[in-house]
Amino acid sequence: MEELKKYIIEKGTIINNNILKVDSFINHMIDPLLFMHMGEEYYKYFKDRGINKILTIEVSGIGLAVAAGYIFNVPVLFAKKTISKTLSDDCYETKVHSFTKKTDYTVRVDKRLIDENDNLLIIDDFLANGEAIKGLIDIANQAGAEVKGIGIAIEKGFQKGGKNLREMGYDVKSLAIIQEFKDDQVVFG
Ligand code: 5GP
Repeated sequence: MEELKKYIIEKGTIINNNILKVDSFINHMIDPLLFMHMGEEYYKYFKDRGINKILTIEVSGIGLAVAAGYIFNVPVLFAKKTISKTLSDDCYETKVHSFTKKTDYTVRVDKRLIDENDNLLIIDDFLANGEAIKGLIDIANQAGAEVKGIGIAIEKGFQKGGKNLREMGYDVKSLAIIQEFKDDQVVFG
């Protein structure tokens, strides 16, 4: 998606040659129009899959998932990272290894909000080693829901997540694929 690539080139910064910082339009401050356009791209690609729910993970997947949910006209469910009084005791849960924080954390989804009638589109901002997405797939499997597609904003093609998920048979649509970081510049695949 050319618009997203332009944002990445103009506003993204590279940390330690392996993390792309996109705080000014995706991860901290959000550009709503860009998100709506990204949602439209997912709709163009996945509109015939019978999707009735979008599944993402808090926090940074939520904004993009809502933009997509608006266009698909379906609810957006996000896996929660923290236990709170409002979260039911009866949850599906799974462990995810965080690429950026280098720690494991548990995410949970209330069993009443997902079931075997769901055809899911999973959405997240980044795809690196695929841990976050695999956690969401695990929750979908526990619920008996079907994963009809995976929509990613930025895939780091030099990490194994995209390859693994496609080999597992999932249809992964990434709106920008980074081949490498070279001399502090982003090279797209
Ligand atoms: P994975 O689970 O695929 O290894 O990593 C994806 C998750 O890690 C995303 O949800 C995202 O929050 C974070 N992440 C991975 N790589 C990057 C990156 O280059 N930049 C940012 N901002 N987040 C990343």
